[in-house]
Amino acid sequence: MALIVQKFGGSSVADAQRIFHVAEIITKTYQQGNSVCVVLSAQGDTTDDLIEKAREINPDASRREMDMLLSCGEQMSIALMAMAIEKLGFPVVSLCAWQIGMATDSNHSAAHITKVDCERVKEELDRKRIVLVAGFQGVDRTGDITTLGRGGSDTSAVALAAFLGAERCIIYTDVDGVYTTDPRVCPTARRLAAVSCDQMLRHAANGAQVLHDRSVALAARHGVTVEVRSCEEGSVGTLVVPHVEESREVTGVTRSRCGEVTRVTAIGRALPSLAAIRAAVSALETAGITVLGLEEGEQRVTLLVKRDDEDAALCAVHDALVPR
Ligand code: ADP
Ligand code: ASP
Ligand code: MG
Repeated sequence: MALIVQKFGGSSVADAQRIFHVAEIITKTYQQGNSVCVVLSAQGDTTDDLIEKAREINPDASRREMDMLLSCGEQMSIALMAMAIEKLGFPVVSLCAWQIGMATDSNHSAAHITKVDCERVKEELDRKRIVLVAGFQGVDRTGDITTLGRGGSDTSAVALAAFLGAERCIIYTDVDGVYTTDPRVCPTARRLAAVSCDQMLRHAANGAQVLHDRSVALAARHGVTVEVRSCEEGSVGTLVVPHVEESREVTGVTRSRCGEVTRVTAIGRALPSLAAIRAAVSALETAGITVLGLEEGEQRVTLLVKRDDEDAALCAVHDALVPR
């Protein structure tokens, strides 16, 4: 019997039908004899909607009060999922961060996890219950609710896996793994069967939304194997592991926005190189895209483009630099 941590993102639990689909994945894992601890994100666009609600009241609200509000989304998800699992006839309990000792610093809206006590989670698992934990939230030394930054539920899941000593942390999302670039933007993106923590961290830190960057850093530090996959039956996914013999010289391309400018970053052990810069700039020029700036960094080349050009630029740089 294994201890497995699963995490489901917002789109996977967006409505009642999807909640029941996820409930089936969870209970199937449980029926196979595993101890199952599940981290959930807020449903669909709930976090964005809550931010909008706050803006209507006070655009300058304190980060403490924003955390109090935004953490509600995850609490809703775990309660609803617990109700679905109860309906399927399995023992389940939903728990918030303060109930499981998910300790963070007091840096509201971008808090760091310092420790997860896990006693309550262990007790509940020993009682053979499925444990549902609210992602994204923590609690500081004064007992105040904190949040871990956008996309932070991935980090909650990896932290739980690390402190519980779980065999594996499976991140279920709306794509079937980590790709060479965003597969929703670039049709030529290819799924990576495995990626090293080092390369994944570079991708996440430069805007690849699929994993929260701190989750990757935490996985590397604690030796947690992370698997990224979709909720579809038979999804193969991507393994994020300490070391992979990278065959590709350029692993992939990411984008991140700074106002009206978008940074398109190619990442890989062969970078930066003059040949790659020339190939990327030439691909952008051929696509009629103006290069606003260029930066070189450790294992990366970043090109600045207008936000309106970002999708086309991502595809052009990807197709020019990532080997087929
Ligand atoms: P979740 O709600 O499950 O946490 P996210 O929206 O945070 O999901 O992350 C998944 C999204 O990340 C995908 O829908 C995809 O558009 C985007 N993405 C960006 N870069 C990549 C990449 N390299 N590989 C896979 N997905 C990526
Ligand atoms: N609900 C939070 C967000 O939208 C955290 C997460 O989804 O991981 O950023
Ligand atoms: Mg996410």
